[in-house]
Amino acid sequence: MKSRAEELDNIAGRQFDLCVIGGGATGAACALEAQLRGIRTVLLEAGDFAGATSGAATKIVHGGVRYLEEAVKGADFQQYHVLIRALHERVRMLQNAPHLTRKLRFIVPGYSWIKVAWLDVGLKIYDWLAGSSRISPSRFLSKEETLQRMPGLNQKGLVGSVGYADGQFDDARYNIALVETFTVAGGNALNYARVTDFRRAPGGMISGVVVKDHLSGNPFTVDARAVVNATGPFSDSIRQLATPAVARRMRLSKGAHILLPLDVFPTQDALLIPKTEDGRVLFAIPWGGRLLVGTTDEEIAPDAELVVTEKDVEYLLRHLNKYLTRSVTRDEIVSGFAGARPLVGSGDGGDTKSLARDDVIEVDPLSGLISIMGGKWTTHRAMGEDTIHRVQRALGLRRTESPTRNHVLHGGEGFSCDSWEKLRSLYQVSEATARHLASKFGAAAEKVLALCLENAALAQLIIADHPAIQAEVVYSVRKEMASTLEDVLARRLGLQFYSWRAAIDAAPVVALLMAEELHWSGTYAASALARYVETINHFLDAAGLSGKCSPSSTRNCPQ
Ligand SMILES: Cc1cc2nc3c(=O)[nH]c(=O)nc-3n(C[C@H](O)[C@H](O)[C@H](O)COP(=O)(O)OP(=O)(O)OC[C@H]3O[C@@H](n4cnc5c(N)ncnc54)[C@H](O)[C@@H]3O)c2cc1C
Repeated sequence: MKSRAEELDNIAGRQFDLCVIGGGATGAACALEAQLRGIRTVLLEAGDFAGATSGAATKIVHGGVRYLEEAVKGADFQQYHVLIRALHERVRMLQNAPHLTRKLRFIVPGYSWIKVAWLDVGLKIYDWLAGSSRISPSRFLSKEETLQRMPGLNQKGLVGSVGYADGQFDDARYNIALVETFTVAGGNALNYARVTDFRRAPGGMISGVVVKDHLSGNPFTVDARAVVNATGPFSDSIRQLATPAVARRMRLSKGAHILLPLDVFPTQDALLIPKTEDGRVLFAIPWGGRLLVGTTDEEIAPDAELVVTEKDVEYLLRHLNKYLTRSVTRDEIVSGFAGARPLVGSGDGGDTKSLARDDVIEVDPLSGLISIMGGKWTTHRAMGEDTIHRVQRALGLRRTESPTRNHVLHGGEGFSCDSWEKLRSLYQVSEATARHLASKFGAAAEKVLALCLENAALAQLIIADHPAIQAEVVYSVRKEMASTLEDVLARRLGLQFYSWRAAIDAAPVVALLMAEELHWSGTYAASALARYVETINHFLDAAGLSGKCSPSSTRNCPQ
């Protein structure tokens, strides 16, 4: 990506064929799809790329075992449609970004033979529906084999399990790779750029957008022949900005996750807890050296705060602990995050867990706004494909084939599972750092390490107990438009998810590096650091985790 300042110059006051509002998975997929079809596109994001729902997923690339049950039991065609589409898309998602995804075995434990048999049949149907997109066949695992794979699993009454394959991914990095691929294709993207109003042609049709640059506070305009609203949970506010009289369609459901040290439940596979007391599934998944446990499902208002609460923690631990030999306690939690599922309501009420994760495209005849709503991460590419067919129609263009089906994302070209070995030997970094860089940046990790050749100090770790190095901060600012401490620590490096307390320790070094890159004054850097520490302390408080934290060393703090 270009620097934010350069990109602002390329966008403000300019004319594009298409403006996509929202830089999450859906907006980034639409923008990439359009640009690769030759439609000159600008992507505008109010916060950071992946700063909303798309950075708060359970991080599984899946058809959705739960949707299978609902499709079969409820004879629900919509659930069936989501399932089939996602089963096929998951393979594309894995292939197009090999550095950010991996296949993952999921184990569903059974505590009665009838349940195991039912699961076995269900997962055979899952395999069968996937057809040629099957990853590997599901199979029954004996009690012994199950415990070998998951020694911490509650053995009482366990008869065996069923294992099946789906995928796992790094959601925030995948989102950033989509935006980066879009800019490599010639598109223009800007974060911290909120659309606040529309420009109109005589007759009321939208002809562009009014944008507020959140970093300078200055407004600017962009003209576009078509506008796509891909704002996920915020879709209704943009729809109503275009035509105030339209009825709201979105229903939001909060999902919270916690992360624990992996040794509370050592496993290389994911545990699927098949039924919570409110009839949902729950996952405990190895991710980034931690155990990721989620998620909850609770309908919320559009302005609800998205933090992990004490109630979420209690719910997640209560269900998890039923399946473990050793109970996990609240104090063992290292971090967490929550997001809002953007679900399209059917208008007939009902709980959010039974709403299909299908997507809907709406073209507003009064304003011309094209809204893409709902969906899942796993189906983001297909949603982009369908939306851009509609855009081509709106622009009077001939419908063309989707170019994204087999389009490898930035960092994926030339990547292989042993790419980290090359990094280690060429750049003399530790195995942990080489693996970390390869898994976050793929083939672009070499560009991060090249910064250390110019300035050897950048090869230093940010903090002692995490493999991220200082060059990543510089690269994130220069090449990935990171503008705040949270952009770097959460979405670019993943350190905030690894541990809230470690992120607070890392923040002073990150603030100093960012201050140098972005020419922050000492006062600005100190207040950015204080704001970040306050945010993380708020997360700790909300989750009921005791003790305010401050950086353990203030030696490097900006003054
Ligand atoms: C808890 C949870 C777990 C999930 N787990 C999975 C999973 O494991 N696998 C899976 O496939 N799916 C999963 N999903 C679903 C998936 O995460 C979402 O479907 C997807 O991320 C939605 O992406 P989006 O781009 O539509 O929305 P968002 O990511 O929310 O993006 C919308 C963007 O629009 C921006 N925006 C809003 N207003 C404006 C404006 N005025 N101007 C400019 N920009 C604006 C916002 O800042 C935001 O970044 C999960 C969802 C949740 C909540």
